Amino acid sequence: MKLIEVTKAFATEEQCLEYLEAKRWPNGVRCLTCGSKEISRITRTVTKKSDNKRAKLYQCLEKTCKAQFSATTGTIFNGSHLSLDKWYMAIALIVDAKKGMSALQLSRHLQVNYRTAWYLAHRIREAMLDPDGLKLTGTVEIDETYIGGKQRGNKRKLLNKDVVIGMRQRGGPLRLVQVKDNRQGTVYEAIAQHVDHKGAKAIMTDESRIYDFRLTKFHKVPHSRIKHESGEYVKGHIHTNTVENSFSLLKRAVMGTYHQLSIKHLQRYLNEFSYRFNRREDAELFENTVMRMAGAKPMPYSKLIEENAFTPFVRPNFSTEK
Ligand SMILES: [Zn+2]
Repeated sequence: MKLIEVTKAFATEEQCLEYLEAKRWPNGVRCLTCGSKEISRITRTVTKKSDNKRAKLYQCLEKTCKAQFSATTGTIFNGSHLSLDKWYMAIALIVDAKKGMSALQLSRHLQVNYRTAWYLAHRIREAMLDPDGLKLTGTVEIDETYIGGKQRGNKRKLLNKDVVIGMRQRGGPLRLVQVKDNRQGTVYEAIAQHVDHKGAKAIMTDESRIYDFRLTKFHKVPHSRIKHESGEYVKGHIHTNTVENSFSLLKRAVMGTYHQLSIKHLQRYLNEFSYRFNRREDAELFENTVMRMAGAKPMPYSKLIEENAFTPFVRPNFSTEK
């Protein structure tokens, strides 16, 4: 579904709720607590005090349960003051924006204030984290890039830059991981978390000393290096071009769209980017993303602004990029 169709199909809160309901309960609404089918519908006026802002509620009729819930209970939409049509439009905009969508752009499109747009975009990004845990296999290209700094020159001097490790399975998915520095051990840790040492048939990197797998569990995987510094870029099937291509796309997004990207939240931007990149052929990306949001846990604002609340890859004591 494209943006224009989303705008037409989900113009009201009710249409959005009905869609969510049909997707969550294809065989009829069931109580979220006890699973009972005996429920009644309540239509009510939403008060400011109530925790659940949705106008359509269900009441479980099971005597021992009596739970009240709505189609948004337990989802990322829960407790949000924002109407669902704005949520849906934000999702449609973000999944369609190849170069990303800044909070400023989003606030203009949705006609909400900047802070609301910022928080909304981060909750959507949070739910875009690939949870499948499947590691990369086959031929895996690995490369590093530096956000907010140039890659050329003495790499020792770049220890304090924000390093992103890109790993891409040829013909398969891309993973982008923010790491705290470009030391061998740090880089290895990120690779070990995302690449399957048994399933990988070949690893391709550049000549950088940060890639050394001899004493690691990857020691049996053939490791080919391309010598970028002596002007070599492709040697038969040995190259890191596919991962480098995704880096250049990422950099265009970072520079062109997020002018003041907070490094504290960089991993979330990376999630958004790789999520979209890995699903660029998905014709039902909007629908699938809404479903994903419906399965995602709500994220309170306090958690978002808290430091280190999100990922083990986030460096402690981040300062925001200038
Ligand atoms: Zn119940």
